[in-house]
Amino acid sequence: MKNLIILGVPGAGKGTQAKKISEKFGIPHISTGDILREIVENKSLYWQEIKNIMEKGELIPDELMLKIIEQRLRQPDCENGFLLDGFPRTVSQAEALDLLLKKEKKEIDFVLFLTVSYEEALKRLSQRKRMDDSLETIKQRFMVYQKKTAPLLDYYALQNKLKKIQGEGSVEEVFLRIQECIYDYNKNSDRN
Ligand code: AMP
Repeated sequence: MKNLIILGVPGAGKGTQAKKISEKFGIPHISTGDILREIVENKSLYWQEIKNIMEKGELIPDELMLKIIEQRLRQPDCENGFLLDGFPRTVSQAEALDLLLKKEKKEIDFVLFLTVSYEEALKRLSQRKRMDDSLETIKQRFMVYQKKTAPLLDYYALQNKLKKIQGEGSVEEVFLRIQECIYDYNKNSDRN
């Protein structure tokens, strides 16, 4: 399998789809949001600072995120592929990730970009219960997404790695679209 990233606005369904991809294709689902929530839960190093930032809907500093991701990608279960969800979230995180992978003679194969309307994303977010799902925080997370994460779309499009997936519809419908995309990619890369 491959090294993948799943991108999309908060509420696009990244976590839900990532879990299904991970099960079906046998690659670890690496959610930086889940890792950070675990740090807060266990009151591990910097948990209070992390909690405050998450509750505001802001981003954790790149330096800490890179340490977290570097450590996680070094685990043996990432050897044959992985799926990143929530990372990278800024162009500088993406550049650092490329460098990190290059050192290991690896690269990102492609990026699944789940597209949903603002209304649909808002509807989905308001249906779940997470510490950073208050209306105020949601608004801030959308703003941060537009400003800091959306530029990643160009970053990966320029590398010819961006695969757009219509993210509206049922979980199963979206998952079917994703599987088609992955099979297509594998078919084409076998041919080359
Ligand atoms: P998520 O579960 O991906 O929606 O992430 C929840 C929150 O965790 C975000 O709003 C950020 O505060 C923080 N976070 C997760 N991933 C990152 C990242 N790659 N860089 C900075 N902050 C992050």
